[in-house]
Amino acid sequence: MTGARILMVEDTPHNLELMTYLLEASGHTVIPAMTGERGLELARLERPDLIVLDVQLPDIDGYQVLARLRADKDVAVPPVVAVTAYAMVGDRDTALAAGFDGYLSKPIDPVSFARDIGARLPASLRGHAAAPQWGRPTPGASPGTEEQL
Ligand code: MN
Repeated sequence: MTGARILMVEDTPHNLELMTYLLEASGHTVIPAMTGERGLELARLERPDLIVLDVQLPDIDGYQVLARLRADKDVAVPPVVAVTAYAMVGDRDTALAAGFDGYLSKPIDPVSFARDIGARLPASLRGHAAAPQWGRPTPGASPGTEEQL
């Protein structure tokens, strides 16, 4: 089973690193963007299979990014999962009503994150199911690398 190409729009370096590690450990390829505008640009250029979109960004917020993606007739919008630190009641409903395909709240759960994201992907792109070994990310030595052929 092959992995997906996932665009991750997230401005906090630690979160970007952690989520990237978890997805790459499951066989996915992550395309990073640290602003909403860059995310829009890369969505058009890279045609990712899924977008993980932080709601709180330094320029335009995740809702604006999503609205502009959907308004762009040249882009076939893939599933978009909102990731937000807003912990208020109703955020999930707000996000889903805005057209997000999923909603995860921060701090993310490292054990279930890749599985939660994989659930929004077609079966052929879910990567491998093995949970990543939790520990210090080691470049080039992530668990499951042997399955990424
Ligand atoms: Mn943010």
